[in-house]
Amino acid sequence: MRWCHSSLLHLLCCLRLRVCTRKCRFRPPVLLRELWAYVKLVLQSLQYNSLTNSDVVFDSVFEPVFWTVDRITRWFGMVFVCLVVVLTSSILVICYMILLPMVFATYHPAWITWHLFYGHWNLVMIIFHYYKATKTSPGYPPIVKNDIPFVSVCKKCIIPKPARTHHCGICNRCILKMDHHCPWLNNCVGHFNQRYFFCFCLAMSMGCMYCSISGRNLFLDAYNTLERFKHMDGERPGVPVTGMGLLIGILPSGQTNYQTPSPPYTFRDRMVHKSIIYMWVLTSTVGVALGGLTVWHAVLISRGETSIERHINFKETKRLAKRGKVYKNPFNYGKLNNWKVFLGVQKRSHWLTRVLLPSGHNPPGDGLTWDVLPFKRDTVPV
Ligand SMILES: [Zn+2]
Ligand SMILES: [Zn+2]
Repeated sequence: MRWCHSSLLHLLCCLRLRVCTRKCRFRPPVLLRELWAYVKLVLQSLQYNSLTNSDVVFDSVFEPVFWTVDRITRWFGMVFVCLVVVLTSSILVICYMILLPMVFATYHPAWITWHLFYGHWNLVMIIFHYYKATKTSPGYPPIVKNDIPFVSVCKKCIIPKPARTHHCGICNRCILKMDHHCPWLNNCVGHFNQRYFFCFCLAMSMGCMYCSISGRNLFLDAYNTLERFKHMDGERPGVPVTGMGLLIGILPSGQTNYQTPSPPYTFRDRMVHKSIIYMWVLTSTVGVALGGLTVWHAVLISRGETSIERHINFKETKRLAKRGKVYKNPFNYGKLNNWKVFLGVQKRSHWLTRVLLPSGHNPPGDGLTWDVLPFKRDTVPV
């Protein structure tokens, strides 16, 4: 052991390593030793946590990253909402100004009726559910004293947390039956607006896929035409023009015109083609991405769990499996009943009035207490 010359270093050395105390000639006063022991106890108590595990360490290390992401998401919340509104509006403008006149001019009356009916039903569902998802409060636990059963205490809000409640770092408060914070809504998805969120995702995915599938031929035509004219710039008129007919209703698809000069490719034609390409690319991309998200949420709803509970239940399943036990989600009422609870369907007519049509009904329950079986099977007609 190295001999400590300075009294301070010697003191620290003796206090830090017990083995040193036997060899030390200098022992600090009792008061100093007690003071050091007290400081050490305070420091250790500040760091002590009986629940510390790898997740807590991971969260602590990445806390600055989470903090930054939360702040950025909060600041840019309205930007994302504006983006949704602007992009959706741009698709609507293209549909009404370009596609609908073409449908009226070229389609059979039965197809015209179908496109008008489906397109407008889909549009109403998108607008209604997006508005309600952004404007409806997800639900918050009470902050005043109450007798509501709780499962833990939020370390940030310092209030009791009922079952299924979680803290949102972006909203900076606890959310009832929290699913996730959605930047595209600038709102948390929780007990009271989860149905609106899901129905919006479903309606938007369906709308995008509808535009993408029904506009596929128009896109191919517009793309080919744009490409052709890009290479023909500067060449003499009267060169072959193929595939313009489907797009602008002048020539049928595949017809080739060698004899007469091709119609002039105006600025308006170019804008029409570019708009159709923009619409198809945007709706296809969003349709695939949002469609995947919607399917994932549909799976979660079928299981009776939220996105957060998916992680919790997965861990519990693994933990109990090691002990030879099987974990059962207490909020899983069976696939069909899960959907009925989620959609608020309590009788047969609700499938039409509450699912296929816009409806502003509240979900069953208050989000504070949860029954194992809110619906008895014999009282819920299928
Ligand atoms: Zn909280
Ligand atoms: Zn939130």
